[in-house]
Amino acid sequence: MFIWLNGKFIDSSKATVPILNHSLHYGSAVFEGIRCYDTADGPAIFRLKDHIDRLFYSAKTIGMEVPYSKGDILEATKVLIKKNKLKECYIRPIIFYGEKMGLLPVGAPVHFAIAAWSWGKYLEKDSVSIKISPYVRIHPQSSVMGAKISGHYSNSIIAALDAKKSGFDEALLLDYKGNIAEGPGENIFFVKGKKVFTPKRDSILPGLTRDSVIRILKDKKFAVVEKNIRPAEIKNFEEAFFTGTAVEINAIGKIDNKLIGKGNIGTVAKDIKESYADIVRGKIPKYRKWLDFINV
Ligand code: PMP
Repeated sequence: MFIWLNGKFIDSSKATVPILNHSLHYGSAVFEGIRCYDTADGPAIFRLKDHIDRLFYSAKTIGMEVPYSKGDILEATKVLIKKNKLKECYIRPIIFYGEKMGLLPVGAPVHFAIAAWSWGKYLEKDSVSIKISPYVRIHPQSSVMGAKISGHYSNSIIAALDAKKSGFDEALLLDYKGNIAEGPGENIFFVKGKKVFTPKRDSILPGLTRDSVIRILKDKKFAVVEKNIRPAEIKNFEEAFFTGTAVEINAIGKIDNKLIGKGNIGTVAKDIKESYADIVRGKIPKYRKWLDFINV
């Protein structure tokens, strides 16, 4: 497997970092999770430009001067997938500080790597059981929530481990006000009739899948409401589902052991999941603008 590291395609066994790496010690890397899908016109990357925009935005929030243009990264990503002979895959670009100890990264070298590998289903079950986490999502004034900074993920990991240990498939984190925020690596939606609700952008990473799903729902004439949602409101909803690049669309059957609808995948979740699967594979012309084809 090749990895693109600082402008060169190298064998993954040689793509290593020194131990005294700033981002390893302090969580100061920024990264993306992107998926590439097999379409009738060859592999295509879903919303690649938007992911690269978010990556560069994340880098800026943590003071990194990125020594590559967005165009360089777009090109390198496409070539990497070709070189690794992949069709459907997960793409992980990461920008990290290099050798420098001490919290302030001023003067630390900035490194850029891109990996791509085959990665199937993220959550095992089609309808998952989730636990409202005792760990609160990071306070929006503790960091920049729209940035995908590796350090944020200690919050996600602790919540996910706790949920697993308690026998659940995944966690659901509340924000500091007690409103529903998001999963460790997923945004969440709730359905009631033709209305779909999702938490406001305050205490979440506003995902690109979330954005795509809002567009798709509106095109299907659903009313989409971004609002604060209290855990006590969950009983009023007929369906719930997660969205995210890795999970794609994944139904939620139970929250804190209480059934959502019948506990299986609901009609709206199923409809959106199927539409999403078609859209990312280029089958619906209207949404092909979201795809970056590799063989062009
Ligand atoms: N929230 C968190 C905390 C995440 O890590 C992710 C995955 N990047 C998401 C939401 C979903 O974001 P996206 O749809 O852009 O993958």
